[in-house]
Amino acid sequence: MSDDQGIAELSRLIRAARRAVVFTGAGISTESGIPDFRSPGGIWTQYRPIDFDEFMGSEEARREAWRRKFATDPTIRAAKPNRGHRAVAALVQNGPAAAIITQNIDGLHQASGVPEKRVIELHGNTTYAHCLDCRKRYEIEALRIAFEKREEAPRCDACGGFVKTATISFGQAMPQEAMQRAELETLAADLFIVLGSSLVVYPAAGFPELAKRNGAALAIVNREPTGLDEIADLVLNRAIGETLGAAVGVD
Ligand code: NAD
Ligand code: ZN
Repeated sequence: MSDDQGIAELSRLIRAARRAVVFTGAGISTESGIPDFRSPGGIWTQYRPIDFDEFMGSEEARREAWRRKFATDPTIRAAKPNRGHRAVAALVQNGPAAAIITQNIDGLHQASGVPEKRVIELHGNTTYAHCLDCRKRYEIEALRIAFEKREEAPRCDACGGFVKTATISFGQAMPQEAMQRAELETLAADLFIVLGSSLVVYPAAGFPELAKRNGAALAIVNREPTGLDEIADLVLNRAIGETLGAAVGVD
């Protein structure tokens, strides 16, 4: 299929849909300057992730997690939504998308103007932190200033619990409400569009599978092959911004 045919087919699927889900991974944010995990040069080629048990079990692991967070925070802070995010926002505002299910933790869908209630975050959000015990919210910048003075991992001033970015680490329980909403939206959709996910992290990658089993059309836009290309109705191995932008008519 030529590039033009691929875009025309994606556009046709969108126009034919009654209700859609857009499912996004780190790949939609690389065009905003945030590296993904699994592309060459991605985060995993530099760091082994700190899983939840390590974070809970060791002050040194917590300090290391926070050092990394403060080192990468300027990149997240500087990032702005790109053409792909804008096209997704248009699909929500003027198109069939009822919800965005995202694995991303960067908050860029909300920054592109999509109402908070339409964004389902499966892996939480790294733009703020909270106490793991009482859920009190903390802002990253204030934590950074305190950390630079003492080099101690932050503790909750209300209850003494560990403070962690509001993300889901490997080994940490998935957020129940988000998982339930994601399932309901997936089952209600007749079109499921995957953008920029290698579809190897479960349970997140189970949603496109479920959509397909439930009779929805499945479209995947990703630079590289994914784990679910075989069952998809349309696979476009292309950059998201220009592809979805052209399909939706957004610059
Ligand atoms: P991933 O890194 O496993 O896969 C990203 C995929 O996107 C790759 O297959 C890559 O080929 C593709 N891609 C990259 N840039 C692209 C572009 N411009 N156009 C088209 N395709 C592009 O990402 P994942 O599946 O989301 O899983 C990684 C996990 O890491 C997620 O759970 C997420 O929580 C976390 N993460 C989030 C961010 C973020 O919030 N921006 C960044 C890194 C990692
Ligand atoms: Zn607390």
